[in-house]
Amino acid sequence: MSETYEAERREVLRAVERIVAAGLVAGSSGNVSLRIATADGELIAVTASSVPYHRFTLDDVLVVDFDIEPVVGEGVPSSESLLHVAVYHARPDVRAVVHTHSVYASAFAAAGRPILPVLDEQVVILGGAVKVAEYGPSASEELAARCVAALGERAAVLLRNHGVVGVGRDLDEALAAVELTERAAKVQVLSAVLGGAQELPPGVVRTEQAVYRMLHGLGPE
Ligand SMILES: [Zn+2]
Repeated sequence: MSETYEAERREVLRAVERIVAAGLVAGSSGNVSLRIATADGELIAVTASSVPYHRFTLDDVLVVDFDIEPVVGEGVPSSESLLHVAVYHARPDVRAVVHTHSVYASAFAAAGRPILPVLDEQVVILGGAVKVAEYGPSASEELAARCVAALGERAAVLLRNHGVVGVGRDLDEALAAVELTERAAKVQVLSAVLGGAQELPPGVVRTEQAVYRMLHGLGPE
């Protein structure tokens, strides 16, 4: 019997259940993928397009190659599969990508404003401010390229007028990236009511950035 990559597909399904439980997605928006290295090349386990999350099952996690050609499953892969593959090409360290339209992060994306580092954990986990990628139409190659350019070596990026992408060495890290991005966005919106969030001191940001880079095996910036 040919390989069905059930373990990897189950991991993606568990990640979908987590973003639903965390209230980060609604309807069928957002998507999740996991990189799979095989002897014959690289694949991704990725969520199917347009399946409402309340009836999402293991059969809705497909496996495709880096040309988005089907390997396992019957459905249509996420329309943002191109973006996921572009991230995997650009970032050999990344094994998981999570994309959501969570409300507070999307508010920053709509306003075209980066989420500045105002919480200590933000820099250590995300690598610094969450930048905003230039606008690209959904599912387009431009969007994929602009996402990769704005992401750089960090763990999260905003897609202008669209949503947020978190990446990590596994799904836990990618989930943590989108969860923390959403929380940091929410904190900044609420802080505005209190006169505005104060940025972390520059020295602290530099030190924490060095910690992020060390934890991710990156050289000095
Ligand atoms: Zn989207």
